[in-house]
Amino acid sequence: MSYTSRIQREQQQSTKNKRSDLILKRIIMTALALTVISFIMTIIVIKTVGKEDPNTTTVVAPKFAGQSEQTSEVIQSNLGTDPRISKLLTHVENNVTSDNGVLLPDSSPQQPNEAVVQENEDSKKETKKQKVVYLTFDDGPSKYTDEIVDILNQNGIHATFFMIGSNLSGNEAHVKNAHEAGNYVGLHSMSHSKKKLYDSGSSANFIKEFTKEQGLIKEITGMAPHLIRAPYGSQPAIGKKFRGDIAAANFKMWDWTVDSKDWNYPHHPEKIMSEIKRQVHRDVEVILMHEKLQTVTVLPDIIEYLSKKGYSFAVYKPDQHFSVNFAKDERL
Ligand SMILES: [Zn+2]
Repeated sequence: MSYTSRIQREQQQSTKNKRSDLILKRIIMTALALTVISFIMTIIVIKTVGKEDPNTTTVVAPKFAGQSEQTSEVIQSNLGTDPRISKLLTHVENNVTSDNGVLLPDSSPQQPNEAVVQENEDSKKETKKQKVVYLTFDDGPSKYTDEIVDILNQNGIHATFFMIGSNLSGNEAHVKNAHEAGNYVGLHSMSHSKKKLYDSGSSANFIKEFTKEQGLIKEITGMAPHLIRAPYGSQPAIGKKFRGDIAAANFKMWDWTVDSKDWNYPHHPEKIMSEIKRQVHRDVEVILMHEKLQTVTVLPDIIEYLSKKGYSFAVYKPDQHFSVNFAKDERL
């Protein structure tokens, strides 16, 4: 082989080597790119699946009389951290009335409810819309407290009470009974007086009354509730700064989504039912009722109606708090 032809052959060999180097580099780059893409896809898939994680919000099926106690309650629920639920619940009834019936302005547009929660039935997990209703009873304790608790017990459900501090003395046994049956005993001020609570425009007396009542309830039940309901509702008396003061005092405040107007129909319990039928349509409802004779009379029918509509009955749980106030204030 001549020197020239050897040089040529070496040059050819070198070109071949360069080509195979290039091909190898391309293969490596493609493999790397594929790895990165599949990694990104995996992350996206994990995140998407995570959003539908059934453990984030678990509600069990509606319960009827005779079923076991736990089945009608929201359990393992994480409503408080689910922004969908919080958002939903801040869209309350357009024509909200105070709990003494005065029509209150509420500019919130009615929104379709998109509460997607999870049913947990015999470890079978399937995603479906679960409707939840919170029955709430204001202005107790009273001679009707035990009757209301009995009706709830007969139906295997629980409710949320907002009791008045000045009614506690002499009614301690009723308060204790409601608490021990699994209901939430919340706060509704000491005086229920519009003048004392709102006329100054300052939150000072309001917070003082609720703090005092919190101590009294704790003495009776052993539990210091942090959920309050402002007498007559939070609007129009309670403004933004006032709400900030309530939040700073570590209280949460619930208004309602449905006003049964039960106080207004002492001789017409059927009209309470009509109000509820007219207003109930959301996936999560908080119904305002009072400890009144007419309410006790119609309560079994209300429970039956809501059950047939597919609602589960839930009781307020501090660790699953979500906002229900007319101002849509997420601090409360
Ligand atoms: Zn009230």
